[in-house]
Formats: sequence, structure tokens, C-alpha cells
Amino acid sequence: MNFLEERIMKDGVVKEGNVLKVDSFLNHQMDVALLDKIGEEFHRRFADLNITKVLTIEASGIAIAYAVARCFDVPMVFAKKAKSINIDGDMYTTEVESFTHKNKNQIIVSKSFLSSADRILIIDDFLANGCALQGLISIAEAAGAVVEGIGIVIEKGFQYGGRSIRNLGYRLESLAIIESMDAATKTVVFRKQEE
Ligand code: 5GP
Repeated sequence: MNFLEERIMKDGVVKEGNVLKVDSFLNHQMDVALLDKIGEEFHRRFADLNITKVLTIEASGIAIAYAVARCFDVPMVFAKKAKSINIDGDMYTTEVESFTHKNKNQIIVSKSFLSSADRILIIDDFLANGCALQGLISIAEAAGAVVEGIGIVIEKGFQYGGRSIRNLGYRLESLAIIESMDAATKTVVFRKQEE
């Protein structure tokens, strides 16, 4: 088990509706030493890529993407959730359906902060059905940037996001992939991955 799987076993809480709560160390209270370790681990895994920018989505992706961007020594950009009223021609925009809140958000990134010169590493906390990632990919591609890699902290392997993103040919690395989890028995089973 890697450091993140160990932490999920210790402090993760399985909820009804296929939701894993990691509020005590990742999504609400944040273990900053763990975030540093996550940043270093993604840096190690994507060290062969010439990344110019890290891209994520607010809110829970921000701290993680910051830790990763620190290690690559590049800027981090986060997509903002916006009311459509705010949107003008200076923004890349797309619609994303939220897995946890079951609503749709417009997400925006200023055209000033992404360009065709950028080689992007996308970072997020969870991968479920892949809507958030699809939104970030479409924004990066609208800018003409290259999506070099995608780093996810916790992938729920029993939902279809990971499979569809990998099928599109993206290099996707998840620090922990949950094969199954059960709210009644409070159990989590991880997919075996090469270290
Ligand atoms: P997707 O767009 O892949 O369906 O869902 C990804 C987004 O939903 C993530 O950015 C994350 O914020 C949220 N999410 C999905 N599943 C979970 C979960 O089990 N636990 C938590 N805390 N957030 C989740």
C-alpha cells in the first residue's frame, strides 16, 4: 500500500451514494505535509514531461495543484465556477456537471492564462465519471495547449471516468484507485498498481 492508500484506510469515510469522504486530510481540513508528498509524487511520475502549467478546478483541486506546481516550478491556473452572466469573450468556457452536488456549472479560464505554447498537467482530487476532467481538457484544447498528463489523487475505478479518459489516449496517473467500497461494512478495496 502506498502512503495515500494507507491514509485513506486510516481516515477516509465511506458514505452512501459511492462517496468517499476525505474531509479530515484533503477536502476540508488539509494535511499540508501530505499535500507536499502528493506534489512530490506527481513530480516524480511526470518528471519526463516538459510541463509549463498545472491546471485544476476550484475548490478542492487548488491546494493539490499548488503543491504539484511548486515542485515543477511553474504557474498553477484553476478554472473558476462562474455564473454565465460573468462570461465574456476573454474567457474559455465549458459546462461541467458536478458528481457530488448533481448540478451544472459553467467553468471559465481567462484567455490570458492559457495559450498554444502551454504543455499542461491537469490535477484534481477525485475522478468519478470524468465530467470535471472532460471540462478541463476541453478548456486546455480550446487554448490550443497540449494536455501532457493528468494526475488524480483518488480515482473511483468502479465509475467510468478513468476508463473513458484512458481510452481517449491521455496519460492518466492516479495515486489510489478504489476498486470497490461499501458504506455498510466500511470497507475499501484498492486496485493493485505498479509502484
Ligand atoms: P467527476 O466529474 O469525475 O464525475 O467527479 C469529480 C469531481 O467530483 C471531483 O472534482 C470531486 O470534487 C467530486 N467527487 C467525485 N466523487 C467524489 C467522492 O467520492 N468524494 C468526494 N469528496 N468528492 C468527489
